[in-house]
Amino acid sequence: MFENLSERFDRAFKVLKGQGQITEINVAETLKEVRRALLDADVNFKTAKEFTTKVKDKAIGRNVLTTVSPSQLLTKICHEELVELMGGEHEDINFKGNPGIILMSGLQGSGKTTFSGKLANWLKNKQRKNPLLVACDVYRPAAIDQLHVLGEQLGVEVFSNREEKDPVKIAQAAITYAKSNGFNVVIVDTAGRLAIDEKMMDEIAAVKQAINPTETLFVVDAMTGQDAVNTAKAFNDKINFDGVILTKLDGDTRGGAALTIKTVVDKPIKFVGTGEKMDALDIFYPSRMADRILG
Ligand code: GDP
Repeated sequence: MFENLSERFDRAFKVLKGQGQITEINVAETLKEVRRALLDADVNFKTAKEFTTKVKDKAIGRNVLTTVSPSQLLTKICHEELVELMGGEHEDINFKGNPGIILMSGLQGSGKTTFSGKLANWLKNKQRKNPLLVACDVYRPAAIDQLHVLGEQLGVEVFSNREEKDPVKIAQAAITYAKSNGFNVVIVDTAGRLAIDEKMMDEIAAVKQAINPTETLFVVDAMTGQDAVNTAKAFNDKINFDGVILTKLDGDTRGGAALTIKTVVDKPIKFVGTGEKMDALDIFYPSRMADRILG
């Protein structure tokens, strides 16, 4: 994960090795490398520039007060700023309620259905909840089958209705079913499409309005870089989601999405997907991610 970015940060700090103190010149040279590394990781220009400006100001400001080496100082400041960029503190998802209702949104192929299964598994085994999975993709029978396969594998019940073509009605019926059958969290998996389209957006907005979820999550493939960020913005403008799930972080992802989504939509990343298996999810902690990036 982010190997290339880590290597590039490391290389940038090498400029400072053997230097007695931070100067305008050596810090500028280092931060030029840092900025290039961020841009190559698919971080947008504005964010990369703001990042290096903040680091520079802090470094110059703290220079005289410290006994640590310039490269240690800059590493520390970059760590603080990376954490800030990714949202600071971890934020939990809200699955409390009677039942708690979690609405999943995102494009087709983002990993929505896989993550719905992972979340059900996590709630069942780590939070001692009794989740119900709901298949609301009325266009792709294969998506309903996929959720049933996952449910069976996990021992989690799946609610679906292949005759009903209105996702709002399916979601409402599922909540009624959950209430009378002792399920305390409902996870609603919705239809995604290959690209943003109005109909999909209207549909998910209608589902959200009808069921009033305790948590609306937007799932996005980290490998898609700035596209992921643009998609997040479009979904957030329409449905004002609560948190982001970044999937496929086990792949050869460069890091841009993880580093910029928070800045663009002002919503935290809450979980990351790190594989196809049902236990391949991690709670997202900005400071642990910054540790990884800086090695
Ligand atoms: P959906 O269309 O959004 O419901 O996407 P799916 O859940 O069907 O996932 C699309 C593909 O991505 C499937 O082949 C999944 O196995 C795969 N996938 C989902 N999450 C991850 C992940 O975190 N890591 C990897 N490597 N693959 C994932």
